[in-house]
Amino acid sequence: MAREKTNAEPERAFSATLQGDDPQFDRTLRPRSFGDYIGQAKHKENLEVFVEASKRRGDPLDHLLLCGPPGLGKTTLAHILAAERGVQLHTTSGPVIEHKGALFSLLTTKLQANDILFIDEIHRLSPAVEESMYPAMDDLVIDVVTGDGPYANSIQIPLQPFTLIGATTRTGLLTAPLFSRFGHVLRLDFYDVKDLARIVSRSAGILGVGIDPKAAEAIAARSRGTPRVANRLLRRVRDFAEVLGSGHVDVAIVEKAANRLDIDAVGLDEMDRRYLQIIVEHYDGGPVGVETLAAALSEPRDTIEDVYEPYLLQQGYIGRTPRGRVVTKRGYELLGREAPSGDPQANLFK
Ligand code: ADP
Repeated sequence: MAREKTNAEPERAFSATLQGDDPQFDRTLRPRSFGDYIGQAKHKENLEVFVEASKRRGDPLDHLLLCGPPGLGKTTLAHILAAERGVQLHTTSGPVIEHKGALFSLLTTKLQANDILFIDEIHRLSPAVEESMYPAMDDLVIDVVTGDGPYANSIQIPLQPFTLIGATTRTGLLTAPLFSRFGHVLRLDFYDVKDLARIVSRSAGILGVGIDPKAAEAIAARSRGTPRVANRLLRRVRDFAEVLGSGHVDVAIVEKAANRLDIDAVGLDEMDRRYLQIIVEHYDGGPVGVETLAAALSEPRDTIEDVYEPYLLQQGYIGRTPRGRVVTKRGYELLGREAPSGDPQANLFK
């Protein structure tokens, strides 16, 4: 089922969801080739093989699903795949394709042979549009109904061979028929500090900002494993360096900027800490349902699940149980509190 569009974006200084706040900045820093794309080595190597094979055969790439939290490089990969395959990329998103007619015009008028159609937030396609995608993906045809009532007639319009690249923050929301039509599913992981530091250094080079290697690492460590967050934090730090220092970025200026922005040494901000505090202080460490948390934090449930929780889960500060979220021992430690005595996992099975 299509999900409600959430307009409310969190007002975080460096939120990974704040896409398009400066598209120019995003475009300038976006890697354009596999060579520039840092990290995710295993995925990158596989994709390079797929591109080479598809070029040799003259076929389109297989349909590809990219999964992972916002800001990890899904859109970037789609751009790189198109560039490396030497075809056009057409980008749109699930909620934008409102009806079958919009899909029809996209597929029949825009796409040239072997082009790539990139649908962001593909889990938010309407059921009718999604169903029309099936024959397009399987057999390169789209069904069109002409006439009305007893005179209605369905005809099939052939399409150019094309590749669908879908991106989603939540694989679980994809229907099984759509999911199974992708030839390859790629799950992007959070980046480690070493790779993020390389991304920060590369971006600083493009922006003409002088930065110490240790400072790049300090930014990386505060970026929640996410390149978009790292680039955004670099930009904020650059402001502080220019106004409060000489313009050169060193560790001291990173720490000063992070303090001012309420970002702690492990990259968590005010919102993450409130999330943990609410569970600990109001719900004895959990379990507490995500709807309750969303209400307590005045944030849409989608934002909580897509933006805040993946990193807290990956870092082991929280756990997910059938009855709701729990704060782990590590989460208590982060807040400077002692976890309740007894089996730390006991809450998981309450
Ligand atoms: P998503 O589509 O997953 O939300 P994007 O592809 O828009 O994420 O990536 C956000 C930004 O992060 C890009 O503009 C790019 O500058 C940077 N980025 C993402 N992945 C990488 C990477 N592997 N190497 C270098 N920069 C990256």
